[in-house]
Amino acid sequence: MGFLRDSLSIFKKNKLVFKERRQHSGNVYTFEFEKPEDLNWLPGQHGLFTVTHKKVKPPTKPFTIASSPKDDVIGLTTKIDGNPSEYKQALLELEPGMEMHMSGPVGSFYIGDESSGVFIAGGIGITPFRAILRENDSTALNPKQSMTLLYVDGEGTFTYKDELEDIGGQEGIAVHFMESSENLYKELELLPRTGAEKYFIAGPYSMVESVAKHLISTGIPKKNIKKETFIGY
Ligand SMILES: Cc1cc2nc3c(=O)[nH]c(=O)nc-3n(C[C@H](O)[C@H](O)[C@H](O)COP(=O)(O)OP(=O)(O)OC[C@H]3O[C@@H](n4cnc5c(N)ncnc54)[C@H](O)[C@@H]3O)c2cc1C
Repeated sequence: MGFLRDSLSIFKKNKLVFKERRQHSGNVYTFEFEKPEDLNWLPGQHGLFTVTHKKVKPPTKPFTIASSPKDDVIGLTTKIDGNPSEYKQALLELEPGMEMHMSGPVGSFYIGDESSGVFIAGGIGITPFRAILRENDSTALNPKQSMTLLYVDGEGTFTYKDELEDIGGQEGIAVHFMESSENLYKELELLPRTGAEKYFIAGPYSMVESVAKHLISTGIPKKNIKKETFIGY
């Protein structure tokens, strides 16, 4: 069903009008676009974003939609260092009113209404969880559901920290920040397990794979682990 929906939506090219750019600490930027009225997605999904205002190679890259469907914008949050790729240089040159295209949404990295989630973010891998947590505030959670975010950032910059701390104060939602995988593994040990939780991991390949391996070694079944690997980091 998800595959069929993805196959169809991938052909849908949405025109996005650029609104504004926001800079976070640690060379992280959010690019916000007006939300087309007929564009819907499940928080955690990604789009294929195409630069159209200049020729760059490759012109299209996948990015998680970092905003929630409740927001009136499409947000793309990414890290841009001092030596950016052509693609990210083009993002920095966007002016209000200019356009990009987005195909999708695609992907199965989202949480079902019924399940509780343990979300593990590595650095910029926070983007899908920011969208999911913005969408699922306490009014949206059913009483049996809980969400725990474990956000690991070795640089300690923690994009969206203030916002996530606010969301973390709400019933059923816990948010923890840590700077090393050792601390992540300690936090994981402290979490109660019912066996029904789904574990979601997002971030660079090596981080996602090592955390998944760790979870499996502590008895979490593979079927309860969802991974979103940010190729390119
Ligand atoms: C499902 C999915 C979701 C994703 N979601 C996100 C997200 O939410 N946020 C996010 O940031 N990423 C996300 N990614 C990764 C994203 O698609 C990019 O691969 C990533 O951001 C790196 O992009 P880049 O243009 O810097 O990469 P590359 O082109 O691989 O560049 C990497 C580095 O190489 C150097 N470089 C490359 N080209 C040049 C050049 N022409 N001149 C000089 N130096 C150069 C630069 O130092 C650059 O930083 C996602 C990936 C997937 C698969």
